[in-house]
Amino acid sequence: RFSTSVGPPMASASSDFLPVADDGRVINLDHGDPTMYEKLWRQAGDKTTVVISGWQYVSYFSDPNKICWFLEPTLEKEIIRLHEIVGNAVTEDRYVIVGTGSTQLFQAALYALSPPEETEPISVVSATPYYSFHRQVIDHLKSGLYKWAGDTDSFNKSGPYIELVTSPNNPDGFMRQAKVNRSGGILLHDFAYYWPQYTPITSAADHDLMLFTISKSSGHAGIRIGWALVKDKEVAKKMTKFVELSSIGVSKDSQLRAAKILQAMSDSTEQVSGSEVASDNFFEVSFGLMAERWRQMREAVKKSRLFSLPELPSALCNYLKRTFETQPAFAWLRCEGEIEDCEAFLRGHKILTRSGKHFGMSPKYVRISMLDRDENFRLFLKRLSAIFQR
Ligand code: PMP
Repeated sequence: RFSTSVGPPMASASSDFLPVADDGRVINLDHGDPTMYEKLWRQAGDKTTVVISGWQYVSYFSDPNKICWFLEPTLEKEIIRLHEIVGNAVTEDRYVIVGTGSTQLFQAALYALSPPEETEPISVVSATPYYSFHRQVIDHLKSGLYKWAGDTDSFNKSGPYIELVTSPNNPDGFMRQAKVNRSGGILLHDFAYYWPQYTPITSAADHDLMLFTISKSSGHAGIRIGWALVKDKEVAKKMTKFVELSSIGVSKDSQLRAAKILQAMSDSTEQVSGSEVASDNFFEVSFGLMAERWRQMREAVKKSRLFSLPELPSALCNYLKRTFETQPAFAWLRCEGEIEDCEAFLRGHKILTRSGKHFGMSPKYVRISMLDRDENFRLFLKRLSAIFQR
């Protein structure tokens, strides 16, 4: 069962950061590695253990009659069930496509959405600050089908384009909507963080192509499973073709583990046993962890004159049935005053972060992962506090 009460309690006041011994090691909060979740899944015990015998899953195929012929039916069932419980996405009349992480599906989607016969690659735009990895993938692959065309605000080319809408946004956590809104625009929605531990679920997302990932919902980034909900049959076919050409399907072992984990998440939300409901619900517990981390983070930043954080919006979450402020997987921290290069400044304190310049913004900003293990997160806050005290 999931519980916030098992294991060492999180610090409840800034002075509680101090008992953590600082051994001077480098704290790497550059990547969004969701290791915070290990603790929760350890508490869940054997519920998500999967045993696979040597003779099982020998075939490339899962269901040869389906468009996505390598998708395990049990994973599809659990994906749909979880979306229905949480209410964060419409699944009716959609094709589910599985990928090796949503990163593979991001590439599959670009391949499927790009017009094949154009002389010039289609422009791909995203509002700044944009998710740095989206740009990196596009620039690195140098596809003949599509090319990175920068920020939505400065995009003035006529004709078709693809707009990436990451909502909540990585790095700053804000909910996003398409910005260009011109004819010929094709939207690709990345909903990696549209889960109730990060942001209020205000409606079921209902777009043509939506990407989700287990990496940020359950925290199992290492399993490498993502999925797309796709309205259009031809797009679903092309995305499937891309995954076929790139990896002839997706690991069955990973799909089964993912299915089991999603099942445990759904089951945890359905146990109705009086006052115990809240402490058993995966999203309640992970929401509680994020809320506590953000409380501590804001407390530390408020005391300083060196840093600031964006004011994030509040809304009623239809799933958790309460109003709360967005509590993103990353802190989008700004160094105030004379510090021009926030990443270098924090590196000087052995805290690794990602500079705003990778997201199309000023180096006064950095992105900091809020999902690291308790021990690292506490040490990070302790060090941040010590910077103020000098
Ligand atoms: N989209 C966004 C916005 C992300 O932040 C991440 C992970 N950092 C991904 C996609 C990648 O997800 P996956 O691990 O499923 O490839």
